Amino acid sequence: MNLNLKTPFSQLNSVGPKREKDLGKLNIKIAEDLLFFYPRRYLDLRNFKKISALIPYEMASIKGKVLGREERRVRGRVSYLKVIISDNTGFIPVMFFNQPYLKDVFQVGKEFFLHGKVGVYKGVAQMSNPLYEEEQPGRRDWLLPLYSLSGGLTQKYMRKLVKLVLSTLDDEIVEMFSLKERQELGLTSIRFALQNIHFPLSDMNLEKARSYLIFREFFILQLNLLINKKAEQALPAGSFTVIEKKSIKKFESLLPFKLTKSQKIVMEEIVSDINQGKSIRRLIHGEVGSGKTVVAIFALWLFAKQGYQSAFLAPTEILAEQHYLNWQDFFMKENLSVAILLGQMSEKEKRNVRDQLNNGEINVVIGTHSIITEKLSFKNLKMVVVDEQHKFGVEQREVLKQKGDNPHYIVMSATPIPRSVAMTFYGALDISTIGELPKGERKVATYLFQKDEKEKIYQFLEYQSSEGKQGYVVTPAIDTKEDIESAVKEYERIKRRLPSTSISLIHGKIPYQEKEEIMKNFRAGKTSILVSTTVIESGIDVPEASYIIIEQAERFGLAQLHQLRGRVGRSGDTGYCMLISYTQQDEIMERLENFATSQSGFEIAEIDLKIRGQGDLMGTRQHGIPPLKIGNIVRDLEVLKIARLKAEELFETMPEEEIMKKFLIRSINEG
Ligand code: ADP
Ligand code: MG
Repeated sequence: MNLNLKTPFSQLNSVGPKREKDLGKLNIKIAEDLLFFYPRRYLDLRNFKKISALIPYEMASIKGKVLGREERRVRGRVSYLKVIISDNTGFIPVMFFNQPYLKDVFQVGKEFFLHGKVGVYKGVAQMSNPLYEEEQPGRRDWLLPLYSLSGGLTQKYMRKLVKLVLSTLDDEIVEMFSLKERQELGLTSIRFALQNIHFPLSDMNLEKARSYLIFREFFILQLNLLINKKAEQALPAGSFTVIEKKSIKKFESLLPFKLTKSQKIVMEEIVSDINQGKSIRRLIHGEVGSGKTVVAIFALWLFAKQGYQSAFLAPTEILAEQHYLNWQDFFMKENLSVAILLGQMSEKEKRNVRDQLNNGEINVVIGTHSIITEKLSFKNLKMVVVDEQHKFGVEQREVLKQKGDNPHYIVMSATPIPRSVAMTFYGALDISTIGELPKGERKVATYLFQKDEKEKIYQFLEYQSSEGKQGYVVTPAIDTKEDIESAVKEYERIKRRLPSTSISLIHGKIPYQEKEEIMKNFRAGKTSILVSTTVIESGIDVPEASYIIIEQAERFGLAQLHQLRGRVGRSGDTGYCMLISYTQQDEIMERLENFATSQSGFEIAEIDLKIRGQGDLMGTRQHGIPPLKIGNIVRDLEVLKIARLKAEELFETMPEEEIMKKFLIRSINEG
């Protein structure tokens, strides 16, 4: 048959139905898929140990000749082949189970390379079912590809199949970059890259292959994102409003403070999106306390003033409540009706809000993300702002589109987002950065303590409380039973230690009404110490709070710690952040010390990314992009930047349909 890149494996004689199914599980359906299924790693055949130097239970490679072999059948069914391999330092038995055909492979006198775990059987070292490769004189392919396989697929079989496809289809593989482009970017050719990613003939060739394929992956991803962004930003015809630039001034005149330059710039970007007739798809990020909320309110207000509805989604009920309390008067003075909608409200209250959203009596609704999942219908929802984006993925975005006439939306990140992350995970959004703090650089002095130094912490609490200062004690929490118990225990310990101080406890399982009461008292200064799980993590804004104590700080990510630390030092005075570590592990201590010495959320986000790597980032799926196969946004950041730039250049000069055809782009949402 005539094999081409699109040939399904079902049509290939060498691939039976079982293997076809196993390949399918790896998303390898047509010949082309196989070429882009890269090895997970390589075995270096130049690296092997002397048999006499093997250590029990280690993974090791050896090279030796077949000294003898023996075939056995046990109880008729199980069979094994025992091969004795020797080098000039010793010998080792190697067992192969249920592969009788191997007896023709392991012929006495032949030389093999073997890789596997050194087992011990009856006190003697042996290997079982290792990977093997016959040694050949004059070998050049030292690097043996290893694929991540499942089912009955073997490395040998994969190699054979890849070789077959590569050798038959070499001519068909289309180069997407011109020679000039490749020279400029220092890239090899696609054929060279594919050949050498699977069967590298040298370390340098492998490096070149990787560079090419990493660039290719980022480049296609970026084109994809750009195309997607443009499609998302297309507005239905005729639904376009012009906003006067002086609206920003008007808005500012309604506030008790002057806008910062950064805030104004972002507002201008929003106005310009609208005036260009685009759907707003924008991510706003910036330092903790940079005043992102005001920008959000501006967007809500703009549309509400035009007679449309707008919605503000917060990650927690406490935060929704805070936004509502802070901005209720503002909207009322503007003759706009604002409502809050929370899961814990009574059915009757909720129904009331629902009805009024439906008939258009409510202009602005503030609530949690449940606003978009609940069965709500709006009269004319036009603007949605999502605070603290990390819980907001593509799925929600899709749901959202159904809620109004494809409303504009803005997502706000709690902390700064490193460029590489923004370019990949948020590449389909425009990005605005708020780069300055309204009250100037904030100082929070951060100190690191060990678990056994708690007494110092209690003394600190005692002193602060006696000075009339308020603060938080945070315990780690995902609201599991244990986490809540530890918050409760901490609360009781502090109470016992400081009997005359007013202390409250707040966590996710406390009913909403009570939470509201507790927060109100804290805001009003009636409570000195608020012991809390991370429910206070995001956005809570109580300027009087001057310190935060974080229990088991090692359990938090740095971005999260920074977010928590951002709760204090808001009044202009220096705030205090005390981290208590329950471990003394070097790496962890180093990470926390790095955190303690840096004040910049941007810097911390970078450190966090480097430590955790991209794998640990929010799932790529959630962001609607396919997982990266070979590129790594931390390691390959420089390549990513160039790919983005090149993709933008191309996007501006080449018609979209042509890009889609040339770069074989499928819609991201399918991926
Ligand atoms: P974040 O960016 O972390 O969400 P917020 O929006 O909660 O920050 O703002 C932090 C505090 O700064 C709030 O109390 C807010 O009212 C105040 N604020 C915002 N913008 C300004 C400004 N331009 N001038 C003075 N205070 C401001
Ligand atoms: Mg905020």
